[in-house]
Amino acid sequence: MTTKPAAAAARATVYGYPRQGQHRELKKAIEGYWKGRVTADALRATTAELRRTHWLRLAEAGIHEVPTGDFSLYDHVLDTTVMVGAIPERHRDAVAAGPLDGLFAMARGTQDVAPLEMTKWFDTNYHYLVPELGPDTVFTADSGKQVGELAEALSLGLTARPVLVGPVTYLLLAKPAPGVAADFDPLTLLDRLLPVYAEVLADLRAAGATWVQLDEPALVQDRTPAELNAAARAYRDLGGLADRPKLLVASYFDRLGEALPVLAKAPVEGLALDFTGSAAANLDGLAAVGGLPGKRLVAGVVDGRNIWVNDLTKSLTTLGTLLGLADRVDVSASCSLLHVPLDATAERDIDPQILRWLAFARQKTAEIVTLAKGLAHGTSAITAELAANRADLASRAESPLTRDPAVRARTGAVSAADARRSQPYAERAVAQHAHLGLPLLPTTTIGSFPQTTELRTARADLRASRIDTAGYEERVKAEIQEVIAFQEKTGLDVLVHGEPERNDMVQYFAEQLTGYLATQHGWVQSYGTRYVRPPILAGDISRPTPMTVRWTTYAQSLTHRPVKGMLTGPVTMLAWSFVRDDQPLGETARQVALALRDEVDDLEAAGTSVIQVDEPALRETLPLRRADHPEYLAWATEAFRLSTGGVRPDTQIHTHMCYAEFGDIVRAIDDLDADVISLEAARSHMQVARELAAHGYPREAGPGVYDIHSPRVPSAEEAAELLRTGLKAIPAERLWVNPDCGLKTRGWPETRASLENLVAAARTVRSELPAS
Ligand code: GLN
Ligand code: ZN
Repeated sequence: MTTKPAAAAARATVYGYPRQGQHRELKKAIEGYWKGRVTADALRATTAELRRTHWLRLAEAGIHEVPTGDFSLYDHVLDTTVMVGAIPERHRDAVAAGPLDGLFAMARGTQDVAPLEMTKWFDTNYHYLVPELGPDTVFTADSGKQVGELAEALSLGLTARPVLVGPVTYLLLAKPAPGVAADFDPLTLLDRLLPVYAEVLADLRAAGATWVQLDEPALVQDRTPAELNAAARAYRDLGGLADRPKLLVASYFDRLGEALPVLAKAPVEGLALDFTGSAAANLDGLAAVGGLPGKRLVAGVVDGRNIWVNDLTKSLTTLGTLLGLADRVDVSASCSLLHVPLDATAERDIDPQILRWLAFARQKTAEIVTLAKGLAHGTSAITAELAANRADLASRAESPLTRDPAVRARTGAVSAADARRSQPYAERAVAQHAHLGLPLLPTTTIGSFPQTTELRTARADLRASRIDTAGYEERVKAEIQEVIAFQEKTGLDVLVHGEPERNDMVQYFAEQLTGYLATQHGWVQSYGTRYVRPPILAGDISRPTPMTVRWTTYAQSLTHRPVKGMLTGPVTMLAWSFVRDDQPLGETARQVALALRDEVDDLEAAGTSVIQVDEPALRETLPLRRADHPEYLAWATEAFRLSTGGVRPDTQIHTHMCYAEFGDIVRAIDDLDADVISLEAARSHMQVARELAAHGYPREAGPGVYDIHSPRVPSAEEAAELLRTGLKAIPAERLWVNPDCGLKTRGWPETRASLENLVAAARTVRSELPAS
């Protein structure tokens, strides 16, 4: 393919860059500051140096316009809250006393005040701090951070574009402040917020900004006509300002859909659109609105959420099509590079033949620059890059890692019957009750017990070869003995081994499955200073040997009560990893499901009668657009059933999910065909039990009666009261008694006391049941 040179030279840009630094300098500096080991000045110096390094690195790589203001000490939505002066009442004193400590007080809380709530940023694994707004909220502009960072970049002689969370998205991400009516709609504050944005824009223009980017990812979700109207009004008003920079309204994570005509008509100078994955529908959307005449289009053609090398030829084709649809086409990633690790070349343990398939932020930057060059000067200007790219892609496509014939044959042969238990739930329940002989209101836990410092130290010692595997396993066994002994003594009915051998519920399995890759430095921000290293689903997945059977059977050998086998489900394995982009997600899920099915079957063969397959990510992985839900739920539920469908009717399958708001997926949860589900419910006083009942959910359920998110010990009476409430919705024959979630983040003292109370509550409420 030969692309003709574009009229105006295409430029390369990104919307944001990983914040932490090559050696995680940011995390160290911030945590050092919290501990009093790093001064505020030293922290400021570290952050300024990180920004400088990243901008210069971008510019040297050939990025024409660097982003500013995307950097954050904690979270960019929190920074926006500061920028618009929406500081919650309870944090005002702290902010007035010192903006830095005030910021951290909002993010983390203090002894006396609660932090802002944290939740997922769209369907990523990044968490933002939820703005709290109400009818009395007064906005005031504070452009200090934005102006300061712009000035830093400009002083380096760079072309810079400040990036702000847009006003519509900011309001759509907010929630009613404590004490404000739950039905308060933050969007009603738009008219009050816009003048503040106008002021910030004027300040940025005065500070030298030619362009400013306003991020509106909330517009890629299904939006009501009123919300779309608000977006139209916002950009009509901001566009109409006399004293302002040029405006680039950015969308990402999916297609704009019905918001595209709204933004295309708005009096702004540019739009940034995602063209990866399901957002590729933006191409048709653009054609349907007649393109963006007179506007700048920034085309996100490099996937900003995944770590695979781009197909440059394919991206050039997309860019070539776009050339006819806008005045000027620039090249970018689909979203901020915040969601990928920094630099693949830092990975020393990955085979170079595989490493060439991977592109982290630094490599993506190079791809964007190459594409802009190809778009501006024709493919002949990037011949060498295209050839190298083709070779990289071919090496991946032909690798035995990505094509294991045995795995392919197995997934290809999967039948509908494989994903079905041999008997319907009602019949299985009878068999299970006979087999397990549990009392009414059986008690259990979600899996993990406190991860003690000794355990973490033992794992670190093993990694550093200070102890050998045998020494480590002795520690794990000792822990299992303690956990089993405690549960027996306390009188729990279905025991767990406590998961002491697991560092993380996904990584533990990823390390044992063929086809998964681990990184050494692939850190991605989860929230604040917490970074995770998602494993990479790189090839066809298989399970060479049992992963958990040893520990579960060891635990079972110590007790006559049933010990639950404990696995992470296929959907969660995908959700918390980097997934393949060379086959449908459903296919990857099916491979993982079959590997887990082997484990489930082996657990059963080893004498395990109760097996729990956790799916805490089932709901958060829901696509942003409702139209995409059915397809997702179809493969997700099939994968779960495939992993659990091979067991005998009298083997009881449990699942666990960590959330209570599940109304929109209750049918899918039923479709998992699990026998028992445990869910979070303690804080909402069993709301979830009522919802299950309202939906006619026919299976056994354990709405949590112990909130494990706080060290508080629930009294036996309190837990009993929750159980009585639960019984109003779910009959005693189907109600389980358990905490909200795993106990790994808790300490032993409160865990002991809480579980003793939980068992006491179950006994009390059992004794109140009418004798049958
Ligand atoms: N079994 C896991 C645990 O108890 C479940 C954790 C989760 O759902 N996030 O830790
Ligand atoms: Zn949970």
